[in-house]
Amino acid sequence: MIKEGVLFDKLADKKVKCNVCSHRCTIAEGKLGLCRTRQNKDGKVYTLIYNTVSSEAVDPIEKKPLYHFLPGTLSYSLGSIGCNFRCQHCQNWNISQTTFEESHTIEITPETAIKRALESGSKSISWTYNEPAIWHEYTYDSAVLAKRAGLKTIYVTNGYITPEALLRIAPYLDAFRVDIKSFSEDFYRKTCGARLAPVLESTKLAKELGMHVETVTLIIPAKSDSPEEITQIVRWVHDNLGIDTPMHFTRFHPMYKMDDLYPTPLDTLEMAYDIAKKEGMRFVYLGNVGGHKYENTYCPKCNTLLIDRLGFRVGAVKIKDGKCPECGEGIAIVV
Ligand code: SF4
Repeated sequence: MIKEGVLFDKLADKKVKCNVCSHRCTIAEGKLGLCRTRQNKDGKVYTLIYNTVSSEAVDPIEKKPLYHFLPGTLSYSLGSIGCNFRCQHCQNWNISQTTFEESHTIEITPETAIKRALESGSKSISWTYNEPAIWHEYTYDSAVLAKRAGLKTIYVTNGYITPEALLRIAPYLDAFRVDIKSFSEDFYRKTCGARLAPVLESTKLAKELGMHVETVTLIIPAKSDSPEEITQIVRWVHDNLGIDTPMHFTRFHPMYKMDDLYPTPLDTLEMAYDIAKKEGMRFVYLGNVGGHKYENTYCPKCNTLLIDRLGFRVGAVKIKDGKCPECGEGIAIVV
């Protein structure tokens, strides 16, 4: 559904500048922005994907992944189509890099989404699968309603959102699950068609605005697996988001335009884990490695097993009043 957008500047000759994501596209009349979901019509920006849903599911929140935010609960999850990135390894390329003609979508209004979220027994609503920042108007309206209904709200995002857009939705957004894909501008430019710096800026801002932040780094063999680069990412998170920030290092599987690579060796993921722990991060996780002990949450002081996970399934959560029941250490977690 088409709806007039927000956050744009009018330029000469009926051109517009979209200020929703950090590309800040200048769009000529009749043309689309880089995400192909926002169009200049007669000198105004319109979103083409208001109410437009490609994917709807009730997921364990661990699938986002979010490990320190309502563990063991369900999150009603919606995705639309389009993306502002062009990742060569995209897992959801069939919805993120598609056109309207090729895509299968249904209409779900914000009101219906909130109703379905509540009916499903979910404690939260997540905008995920494709990039939620480009779905700004719809996710904003939905987030306002979600908060009124007592639901927590989650962006699963590449972080390429402008400060204006983030500040606008911030009063209604609880969690910012962000990818830090690499610490190399070259990687972001060549592999994703974007830049690293705005991702770091928005992530820092989300933290300053009081959102719960967890980071995910997909480790791609020969692309983003050097100890030096992993150390840079960890140090940035340590210094800017704090040592209690959950960091996830996830296994790459050959996908889309990167189907000629091999899956990330377990040794490489464990190397990333060791680096993050050595640098002082307290909650580090490995992903896409079902059954590995580093899916679990351990007390950073006495090493007691606090949350037992197997894939997306959660066993007992042993944290009591935000503390380890054995040694009393404070555990930063939203329950
Ligand atoms: S959301 Fe980003 S990619 Fe899409 S039109 Fe706006 S600035 Fe361009």
